[in-house]
Amino acid sequence: MYVCFDRDRAGEVGAEKVAGLLPQARIVRLPEEVGESADVTDFFVRLKKSRGEFLELLQQAEPLPLPLPQQSRGQSPVPNNRSEIEALKRSVRIEEIARRYLELQPNGQRFIARCPFHEDQHPSFVLYPESQSFYCFGCQAYGDVITFLMRIERLTFPEALDALRKIASPAA
Ligand SMILES: [Zn+2]
Repeated sequence: MYVCFDRDRAGEVGAEKVAGLLPQARIVRLPEEVGESADVTDFFVRLKKSRGEFLELLQQAEPLPLPLPQQSRGQSPVPNNRSEIEALKRSVRIEEIARRYLELQPNGQRFIARCPFHEDQHPSFVLYPESQSFYCFGCQAYGDVITFLMRIERLTFPEALDALRKIASPAA
């Protein structure tokens, strides 16, 4: 489930309110050219974007911060701040992580591979280094480096963040 919001602060505050009601919701950031206070309708109408382009945008969707931070003892602290998560994501490259599991073949600006999430006979899995995301044209799996780790290692979101932290700074 996705919640689309415009780029101004008011929209984001609204998004966080919605997060309390819809735990599965994610924030989708519309591109700058959609204009101030525009919404997802403008994305299609004003910018004449296609469904495919919207799906690509969805790949970059961020999970909403939890309305109430949940810390349990004995576990390493999990960053629940979106900027910390973003910094963590920036500290690793999705293609370097994916390479540990998949045989990535360069294809222009992208990489393709046999999808690890379905029985893939030919490479349907596409990795987009520029947006640090992936999309499978076979099973429609998509996401970012966190989603990739969650799915391939069967981790929860906090566990995937933890794994990412260890990859980012192995000495820590
Ligand atoms: Zn797939």
